[in-house]
Amino acid sequence: MDSITYKKQLLEQLYAPYKQCVHCPLGKLGRTHVVFGEGNPNASLMFIGEAPGQEEDMQARPFVGRSGKLLTRALEAFGISREQVFITNIVKCRPPNNRKPLPGESKTCKNLLLLKQIKIVKPRVICTLGAAALEGLLEKEVKISQTRGKAIVFDSITLVPTYHPAYILRNPKELKTLIKDIELALSLTQ
Ligand code: SF4
Repeated sequence: MDSITYKKQLLEQLYAPYKQCVHCPLGKLGRTHVVFGEGNPNASLMFIGEAPGQEEDMQARPFVGRSGKLLTRALEAFGISREQVFITNIVKCRPPNNRKPLPGESKTCKNLLLLKQIKIVKPRVICTLGAAALEGLLEKEVKISQTRGKAIVFDSITLVPTYHPAYILRNPKELKTLIKDIELALSLTQ
């Protein structure tokens, strides 16, 4: 069995027991699907966002709404399709009214699923999208305007924080910043 098939199986085995997860409050606050994440199980680059939104909750797929389309276009600018990377979120269930996940929710879901996804995929680089994703991963408050675009190390993996695509939709002038940060993340996968 090749490593992609093996990792795909491991990811499916990880997801299976949690398709109706209620391990944190977000499991009981109206979510439709647990949005596990998708992409190349052997990806060298993993994107981690904050949480599923309405479209993602309906389709059970991460980053498929307007933000996701922007992220896909940004990747395509480098000749990369979203199938070549792995895309997921800190929490896998949509928070009510798209509120920011609470620290306890992020911590529970991260330990239950995200850290195990990272261990299976073993990306060379993680790119967090937005402050909440970085805060959820590091479990501390950050100023994304100061931390973005600078590579740090998380659990022996290079981590490049950048803005959330939803922020870019509200502030199109920052698109070049997002592109620059993704370029850095991609260069560090080599
Ligand atoms: S957000 Fe994560 S921990 Fe909370 S219910 Fe959903 S899958 Fe479970």
